[in-house]
Amino acid sequence: MSQTQIFKIASIPADGVGKEVVAAGRRVLDTVAEQSGGKFSFDWTEFPWGCEYYAEHGVMMDPNGLETLKGFDSIYFGAVGWENVPDHISLWGLRLNITQNFDQWANIRPVKFLPGVTSPLRKADDTELDWIVVRENSEGEYAGLGGRNLSGRGPGNEVALQTALFTEKGCERIIRFAFDLARTRTVKKVSSVTKSNAQQYGMVLWDEVFNRVALDYPDVRTESVLVDAMSAKFILNPEDLSVVVASNLNADILSDLGSALAGSLGLAASANLNPERRFPSMFEPVHGTAPDIADQGICNPIGAIASAALMLDHFGLPEEARRIEAAIEAATGSGHLTRDIGGSSDTEAVTEAIVAALSRNL
Ligand code: ATP
Ligand code: MG
Repeated sequence: MSQTQIFKIASIPADGVGKEVVAAGRRVLDTVAEQSGGKFSFDWTEFPWGCEYYAEHGVMMDPNGLETLKGFDSIYFGAVGWENVPDHISLWGLRLNITQNFDQWANIRPVKFLPGVTSPLRKADDTELDWIVVRENSEGEYAGLGGRNLSGRGPGNEVALQTALFTEKGCERIIRFAFDLARTRTVKKVSSVTKSNAQQYGMVLWDEVFNRVALDYPDVRTESVLVDAMSAKFILNPEDLSVVVASNLNADILSDLGSALAGSLGLAASANLNPERRFPSMFEPVHGTAPDIADQGICNPIGAIASAALMLDHFGLPEEARRIEAAIEAATGSGHLTRDIGGSSDTEAVTEAIVAALSRNL
């Protein structure tokens, strides 16, 4: 008999609905592990970091936290932010502290239309829509370069500069990542998104690197689309999309648009990957802490559960990842929908329906 593979996972539910959806996702992951017949199991360690931790300790996470996290195979994250801590402190103190220090430079965000969920596009029931936004996660518009009060003159004359950083290496690695991902999909196509007609340095460099890398992938179709046109395309003819690669800011905006089109922010999954595997990668729903519905047991757990499936892909368990996705589809297809997607089920009932579907389809 072969040995059970044990994956060490750090769970950081953090704030708001993050706690509820991480609990739901853990339950689904543990179910899949139990059903693996001893093939693999999860060794969980939960960390209490977040805004409550901040209220007690004055920091968002243990100062040695990054060292501790290095010993894990991956991080399963909820959402961070609460009214007691300014947003830039909570975000940089925990989530971005991890993504930046663990060089999680590739952020993937699938946009998937689920059975039984109506999309604003009204195509959910008759068309299968499924594409992935690949976001450059380490530089671009979020490089943090610039400054304020640059005019040296008095009030009313302030000048602020916000600079985007594009390196040839940074562009190349994310673009190659997108092409490699496209090769694993039925529709082998990469759409590159920039605003290179108006931003003539970094985005033109991006376009040049894209055209050069494309030569190495003759089997993958390509297109270059401006971000404004791509926003329209997401709505008017998304059938045509498979992998969409874009800079930090553009992909951030496009992926929120994509998740809203799929029916709700609560459905959207995300992986922050360190593809070299020098550091653990982090899996989390795209949504935030949703303070308007937190602690009521009514949030949609699907974004977090679908992120757990991305984690299994990362662990080299694609069959198990597809099992989770099929169970999500079985649950929504049979009407187990939370309020954000027009149903009346609570978090617990939807999670239960997904676990039941896993047990039916062994
Ligand atoms: P944060 O500052 O943490 O990002 P936010 O106020 O921006 O919080 P989000 O979490 O981004 O809130 O949510 C935006 C909207 O989407 C809210 O109305 C929220 O209720 C809804 N929403 C987000 N996540 C979910 C979920 N898992 N289930 C249902 N609705 C959700
Ligand atoms: Mg938000």
